[in-house]
Amino acid sequence: MTPDLFNLKGKTAIVTGCSTGLGQGMCLGLAEAGANVVGVDYVDAPETSEMIASINGRFHGIKADLSSCEPIEAILDEAVKTFGRVDILVNNAGIIRREDSINFSEKDWDDVMNINIKTVFFFCQAAARRFLQQGQGGKIINIASMLSFQGGIRVPSYTASKSAVMGITRLLANEWAAHNINVNAIAPGYMATNNTAALRADKERSAEILGRIPAKRWGKPSDLAGPVIFLASDASAYVNGYTLAVDGGWLAR
Ligand code: NAD
Repeated sequence: MTPDLFNLKGKTAIVTGCSTGLGQGMCLGLAEAGANVVGVDYVDAPETSEMIASINGRFHGIKADLSSCEPIEAILDEAVKTFGRVDILVNNAGIIRREDSINFSEKDWDDVMNINIKTVFFFCQAAARRFLQQGQGGKIINIASMLSFQGGIRVPSYTASKSAVMGITRLLANEWAAHNINVNAIAPGYMATNNTAALRADKERSAEILGRIPAKRWGKPSDLAGPVIFLASDASAYVNGYTLAVDGGWLAR
């Protein structure tokens, strides 16, 4: 074990969707590894801010609506103004809409695709431009899903967006690996957050899901801390374009 490989001291990480759930868990993990964290959300993130303060970490919250690409440049400017540079981008903010495909609306298609893939791509592009200007490479971690690998049911725009996240993660890694920019993704399994509240409330679906998870439990936001630190740190210098499943064994079944 070489702890320095995982040390993020002096690095600045932007994490989108920081107020709750997986984004909050990753903010905390990155701060524990020493990173300055810039958390972005369309709601305030007081809990995340307090959690990071309690471990003497550094957190700066930015309120922005990522359903469009419009705020991206200002977020990067503010991150650089606050902490001097940007080294890590975690594209985590995302939404889901559930409806039978036969009835699925254009709005539910567009709303999900806008934040889950359009904003993700253009945030990657804008961050990579900064990394190139800074001249020291960078790390991009996109949040994919089991539905990057599987079809799912009643979530057509979510499946389309998360399959695309895995695709562009590979594409961008191919284009930018030579510039010392690592682009990878994490595919969380079934995690206990707001995103899965409806699923967990449905007794039948919940039992079906739990019955198939070899680890025999839903994932927690803290389960993403180790994987995000790995992909944000020097430990993953030669890992490019890979989507790491963090799923209690779901995909292995
Ligand atoms: P969540 O709903 O608990 O959190 C989503 C976060 O994104 C919240 O902080 C929310 O405020 C923020 N957000 C939503 N819309 C936004 C907008 N327009 N602008 C800015 N911020 C916005 O969900 P979660 O489970 O923590 O999911 C986080 C990511 O992980 C998502 O991309 C989701 O698709 C993905 N994911 C979740 C699971 C799971 O089981 N929970 C599994 C696979 C992938």
